[in-house]
Amino acid sequence: MAGKLDGKAALITGGSRGIGAAIAKRLAADGAGVAVTYSKGADAASSVVKEIERGGGRAIAIQADAADPDAVKAAVEKTVAAFGRLDVLVNNAGTAIPKPFEETTLEEMDRVIDINVRGVFVATQAALKHMKSGGRVIMIGSAVGERVLAPGLVPYSGTKGAVKMFSQALAREVGSRGITVNNVQPGPIDTELNPAAGDWAVPQKAATALDRYGHVDEVAALVAFVAGPEASYITGANLTVDGGMNA
Ligand code: NDP
Repeated sequence: MAGKLDGKAALITGGSRGIGAAIAKRLAADGAGVAVTYSKGADAASSVVKEIERGGGRAIAIQADAADPDAVKAAVEKTVAAFGRLDVLVNNAGTAIPKPFEETTLEEMDRVIDINVRGVFVATQAALKHMKSGGRVIMIGSAVGERVLAPGLVPYSGTKGAVKMFSQALAREVGSRGITVNNVQPGPIDTELNPAAGDWAVPQKAATALDRYGHVDEVAALVAFVAGPEASYITGANLTVDGGMNA
Protein backbone atom coordinates (compact mmCIF):
# COMPACT_ATOMS: atom_id res chain seq x y z
CA MET A 1 0.00 0.00 0.00
CA ALA A 2 1.35 3.43 -0.90
CA GLY A 3 2.17 5.59 2.10
CA LYS A 4 1.74 9.34 2.13
CA LEU A 5 5.44 9.83 3.02
CA ASP A 6 6.85 7.31 0.55
CA GLY A 7 10.28 8.39 -0.69
CA LYS A 8 10.66 11.07 2.00
CA ALA A 9 13.23 11.24 4.79
CA ALA A 10 12.61 12.48 8.34
CA LEU A 11 14.85 13.28 11.29
CA ILE A 12 13.31 13.09 14.75
CA THR A 13 15.44 14.42 17.58
CA GLY A 14 15.06 12.51 20.84
CA GLY A 15 13.43 9.55 19.14
CA SER A 16 14.49 6.67 21.37
CA ARG A 17 11.61 6.87 23.85
CA GLY A 18 8.29 8.53 24.54
CA ILE A 19 6.68 10.89 22.05
CA GLY A 20 9.70 10.92 19.69
CA ALA A 21 9.77 7.11 19.37
CA ALA A 22 6.03 7.08 18.56
CA ILE A 23 6.55 9.79 15.92
CA ALA A 24 9.44 7.84 14.36
CA LYS A 25 7.37 4.65 14.13
CA ARG A 26 4.38 6.48 12.70
CA LEU A 27 6.34 8.41 10.03
CA ALA A 28 8.11 5.15 9.07
CA ALA A 29 4.74 3.39 8.81
CA ASP A 30 3.65 6.19 6.45
CA GLY A 31 6.65 5.39 4.24
CA ALA A 32 9.43 7.79 5.33
CA GLY A 33 12.99 6.73 6.01
CA VAL A 34 13.60 7.93 9.55
CA ALA A 35 16.63 8.90 11.61
CA VAL A 36 16.29 9.20 15.38
CA THR A 37 18.74 10.88 17.71
CA TYR A 38 19.28 10.11 21.38
CA SER A 39 21.68 11.22 24.08
CA LYS A 40 22.09 8.20 26.39
CA GLY A 41 19.63 5.48 25.40
CA ALA A 42 21.53 3.55 22.72
CA ASP A 43 19.61 0.33 23.45
CA ALA A 44 16.23 2.06 23.37
CA ALA A 45 17.14 3.80 20.09
CA SER A 46 18.28 0.54 18.57
CA SER A 47 15.02 -1.19 19.51
CA VAL A 48 13.04 1.59 17.79
CA VAL A 49 15.15 1.02 14.66
CA LYS A 50 14.65 -2.76 14.83
CA GLU A 51 10.89 -2.41 15.29
CA ILE A 52 10.67 -0.14 12.23
CA GLU A 53 12.81 -2.54 10.18
CA ARG A 54 10.66 -5.52 11.23
CA GLY A 55 7.67 -3.61 9.86
CA GLY A 56 9.46 -3.19 6.51
CA GLY A 57 10.58 0.41 7.11
CA ARG A 58 13.96 2.13 7.00
CA ALA A 59 15.54 3.68 10.09
CA ILE A 60 18.86 4.66 11.65
CA ALA A 61 19.80 5.81 15.16
CA ILE A 62 22.37 8.54 15.79
CA GLN A 63 23.84 9.58 19.11
CA ALA A 64 23.61 13.38 19.29
CA ASP A 65 23.08 15.32 22.48
CA ALA A 66 20.78 18.23 21.63
CA ALA A 67 23.00 20.46 23.78
CA ASP A 68 26.03 19.72 21.57
CA PRO A 69 25.84 21.80 18.35
CA ASP A 70 28.51 19.81 16.49
CA ALA A 71 26.76 16.52 17.26
CA VAL A 72 23.40 17.93 16.15
CA LYS A 73 24.84 19.24 12.86
CA ALA A 74 26.54 15.88 12.28
CA ALA A 75 23.21 14.10 12.87
CA VAL A 76 21.59 16.15 10.11
CA GLU A 77 24.45 15.32 7.71
CA LYS A 78 24.31 11.61 8.61
CA THR A 79 20.58 11.57 7.91
CA VAL A 80 21.13 13.11 4.48
CA ALA A 81 24.00 10.69 3.80
CA ALA A 82 21.79 7.72 4.71
CA PHE A 83 18.64 8.69 2.80
CA GLY A 84 19.95 11.12 0.18
CA ARG A 85 17.57 13.89 1.25
CA LEU A 86 15.78 15.52 4.19
CA ASP A 87 12.10 16.42 4.01
CA VAL A 88 10.87 16.50 7.61
CA LEU A 89 12.59 17.68 10.78
CA VAL A 90 10.80 16.99 14.06
CA ASN A 91 12.40 18.94 16.90
CA ASN A 92 11.23 16.68 19.71
CA ALA A 93 14.22 16.36 22.08
CA GLY A 94 13.34 18.27 25.20
CA THR A 95 13.66 18.24 28.92
CA ALA A 96 12.15 19.75 32.08
CA ILE A 97 13.61 20.29 35.53
CA PRO A 98 10.44 20.92 37.55
CA LYS A 99 11.06 22.79 40.83
CA PRO A 100 10.13 26.07 42.49
CA PHE A 101 11.49 29.05 40.57
CA GLU A 102 13.42 30.49 43.48
CA GLU A 103 15.27 27.18 43.97
CA THR A 104 16.16 26.86 40.29
CA THR A 105 19.87 27.38 39.57
CA LEU A 106 21.24 29.24 36.59
CA GLU A 107 22.90 25.98 35.49
CA GLU A 108 19.47 24.29 35.41
CA MET A 109 18.01 27.18 33.45
CA ASP A 110 20.92 26.97 30.97
CA ARG A 111 20.44 23.21 30.58
CA VAL A 112 16.75 23.58 29.72
CA ILE A 113 17.51 26.42 27.27
CA ASP A 114 20.40 24.49 25.67
CA ILE A 115 18.23 21.47 24.86
CA ASN A 116 14.79 23.01 24.28
CA VAL A 117 15.77 26.19 22.41
CA ARG A 118 19.44 26.18 21.35
CA GLY A 119 19.16 22.57 20.12
CA VAL A 120 16.15 23.53 18.03
CA PHE A 121 18.05 26.49 16.53
CA VAL A 122 21.03 24.34 15.52
CA ALA A 123 19.04 21.38 14.14
CA THR A 124 16.68 23.62 12.18
CA GLN A 125 19.45 25.72 10.64
CA ALA A 126 21.36 22.60 9.58
CA ALA A 127 18.23 20.91 8.22
CA LEU A 128 17.10 23.92 6.18
CA LYS A 129 20.30 23.66 4.09
CA HIS A 130 18.90 20.42 2.68
CA MET A 131 15.15 21.06 2.56
CA LYS A 132 13.37 21.70 -0.69
CA SER A 133 9.84 22.85 -1.49
CA GLY A 134 7.40 20.70 0.48
CA GLY A 135 9.78 20.55 3.45
CA ARG A 136 8.35 20.41 6.96
CA VAL A 137 9.81 21.75 10.19
CA ILE A 138 7.75 20.51 13.13
CA MET A 139 8.40 21.60 16.71
CA ILE A 140 7.23 19.67 19.73
CA GLY A 141 6.43 22.63 21.96
CA SER A 142 3.99 22.25 24.82
CA ALA A 143 0.55 23.31 25.92
CA VAL A 144 2.38 25.06 28.78
CA GLY A 145 4.03 27.28 26.16
CA GLU A 146 0.64 29.05 26.06
CA ARG A 147 -1.01 28.52 29.45
CA VAL A 148 0.49 27.27 32.69
CA LEU A 149 -1.81 25.61 35.22
CA ALA A 150 0.73 24.41 37.78
CA PRO A 151 3.75 25.80 39.64
CA GLY A 152 7.31 24.54 39.13
CA LEU A 153 7.58 25.02 35.37
CA VAL A 154 9.06 28.50 34.92
CA PRO A 155 12.17 27.63 32.82
CA TYR A 156 10.37 24.85 30.93
CA SER A 157 7.33 26.91 29.96
CA GLY A 158 9.61 29.84 29.14
CA THR A 159 11.47 27.68 26.62
CA LYS A 160 8.27 26.27 25.13
CA GLY A 161 6.88 29.79 24.73
CA ALA A 162 10.13 30.62 22.93
CA VAL A 163 9.68 27.61 20.65
CA LYS A 164 6.19 28.86 19.77
CA MET A 165 7.41 32.29 18.63
CA PHE A 166 10.50 30.76 16.99
CA SER A 167 8.13 28.66 14.81
CA GLN A 168 5.89 31.57 13.91
CA ALA A 169 8.85 33.80 13.02
CA LEU A 170 10.58 31.09 10.99
CA ALA A 171 7.37 30.32 9.08
CA ARG A 172 7.60 33.90 7.73
CA GLU A 173 11.17 33.35 6.47
CA VAL A 174 10.90 30.01 4.71
CA GLY A 175 7.33 30.14 3.39
CA SER A 176 8.47 31.54 0.05
CA ARG A 177 10.55 28.35 -0.40
CA GLY A 178 7.47 26.15 0.09
CA ILE A 179 8.62 24.99 3.52
CA THR A 180 6.15 24.98 6.42
CA VAL A 181 6.95 25.43 10.11
CA ASN A 182 4.46 24.35 12.75
CA ASN A 183 4.45 23.87 16.51
CA VAL A 184 2.67 20.81 17.91
CA GLN A 185 1.82 21.46 21.56
CA PRO A 186 1.08 18.32 23.60
CA GLY A 187 -0.74 18.42 26.90
CA PRO A 188 -0.09 15.72 29.52
CA ILE A 189 1.17 12.66 27.66
CA ASP A 190 2.12 9.48 29.51
CA THR A 191 5.93 9.13 29.13
CA GLU A 192 8.95 8.81 31.42
CA LEU A 193 9.16 12.63 31.44
CA ASN A 194 5.54 12.96 32.62
CA PRO A 195 4.21 9.60 33.91
CA ALA A 196 0.43 9.28 34.23
CA ALA A 197 0.91 7.56 37.61
CA GLY A 198 1.96 9.60 40.62
CA ASP A 199 1.12 12.77 42.54
CA TRP A 200 2.38 15.15 39.86
CA ALA A 201 -0.14 13.66 37.40
CA VAL A 202 -3.30 14.23 39.45
CA PRO A 203 -3.77 17.99 38.80
CA GLN A 204 -2.74 17.61 35.15
CA LYS A 205 -5.32 14.91 34.48
CA ALA A 206 -7.96 16.93 36.32
CA ALA A 207 -7.21 19.98 34.15
CA THR A 208 -8.04 18.14 30.91
CA ALA A 209 -11.58 18.22 29.50
CA LEU A 210 -11.30 14.50 28.70
CA ASP A 211 -10.16 13.65 32.25
CA ARG A 212 -7.25 11.52 31.11
CA TYR A 213 -3.64 11.59 30.03
CA GLY A 214 -2.91 11.38 26.32
CA HIS A 215 -1.11 8.54 24.57
CA VAL A 216 2.08 9.10 22.57
CA ASP A 217 0.30 7.82 19.44
CA GLU A 218 -2.23 10.66 19.72
CA VAL A 219 0.63 13.16 19.32
CA ALA A 220 2.27 11.11 16.55
CA ALA A 221 -0.99 11.12 14.57
CA LEU A 222 -1.03 14.94 14.50
CA VAL A 223 2.66 15.11 13.58
CA ALA A 224 2.07 12.64 10.74
CA PHE A 225 -0.75 14.81 9.42
CA VAL A 226 1.40 17.97 9.56
CA ALA A 227 4.27 16.09 7.87
CA GLY A 228 2.02 14.89 5.06
CA PRO A 229 0.82 16.45 1.82
CA GLU A 230 -2.65 17.32 3.12
CA ALA A 231 -1.16 19.89 5.53
CA SER A 232 0.33 21.95 2.69
CA TYR A 233 -1.48 25.19 3.65
CA ILE A 234 -0.81 24.99 7.40
CA THR A 235 2.17 27.04 8.55
CA GLY A 236 3.06 29.19 11.52
CA ALA A 237 0.36 27.34 13.47
CA ASN A 238 0.34 26.19 17.07
CA LEU A 239 -1.55 22.92 17.07
CA THR A 240 -2.55 21.81 20.53
CA VAL A 241 -3.17 18.14 21.33
CA ASP A 242 -3.97 18.34 25.02
CA GLY A 243 -7.30 16.66 25.79
CA GLY A 244 -8.76 20.13 26.27
CA MET A 245 -6.33 21.19 29.01
CA ASN A 246 -6.06 24.71 27.62
CA ALA A 247 -9.75 24.97 26.64
P1 NDP B 1 10.91 11.46 27.35
O1 NDP B 1 11.78 11.91 28.47
O2 NDP B 1 9.97 10.34 27.58
O3 NDP B 1 11.79 11.14 26.06
C1 NDP B 1 12.74 12.08 25.67
C2 NDP B 1 13.46 11.63 24.43
O4 NDP B 1 14.38 12.66 24.08
C3 NDP B 1 14.27 10.38 24.63
O5 NDP B 1 14.36 9.70 23.41
C4 NDP B 1 15.64 10.93 25.04
O6 NDP B 1 16.71 10.06 24.71
C5 NDP B 1 15.70 12.18 24.20
N1 NDP B 1 16.54 13.19 24.79
C6 NDP B 1 16.47 13.73 26.03
N2 NDP B 1 17.44 14.63 26.21
C7 NDP B 1 18.12 14.66 25.05
C8 NDP B 1 19.25 15.39 24.60
N3 NDP B 1 19.88 16.24 25.39
N4 NDP B 1 19.69 15.16 23.35
C9 NDP B 1 19.09 14.28 22.54
N5 NDP B 1 18.03 13.56 22.90
C10 NDP B 1 17.55 13.75 24.14
O7 NDP B 1 10.11 12.79 26.92
P2 NDP B 1 8.71 12.96 26.17
O8 NDP B 1 8.56 11.97 25.10
O9 NDP B 1 7.66 13.10 27.19
O10 NDP B 1 8.91 14.42 25.55
C11 NDP B 1 9.26 14.64 24.20
C12 NDP B 1 9.01 16.11 23.87
O11 NDP B 1 7.63 16.39 24.11
C13 NDP B 1 9.81 17.09 24.71
O12 NDP B 1 10.19 18.19 23.91
C14 NDP B 1 8.80 17.53 25.76
O13 NDP B 1 9.11 18.78 26.28
C15 NDP B 1 7.54 17.53 24.94
N6 NDP B 1 6.31 17.47 25.72
C16 NDP B 1 6.02 16.37 26.50
C17 NDP B 1 4.86 16.35 27.23
C18 NDP B 1 4.47 15.19 28.09
O14 NDP B 1 3.48 15.32 28.84
N7 NDP B 1 5.14 14.06 28.04
C19 NDP B 1 3.91 17.48 27.21
C20 NDP B 1 4.30 18.56 26.35
C21 NDP B 1 5.47 18.54 25.64
P3 NDP B 1 17.85 9.64 25.81
O15 NDP B 1 17.18 8.67 26.73
O16 NDP B 1 18.93 9.05 25.03
O17 NDP B 1 18.23 10.93 26.48
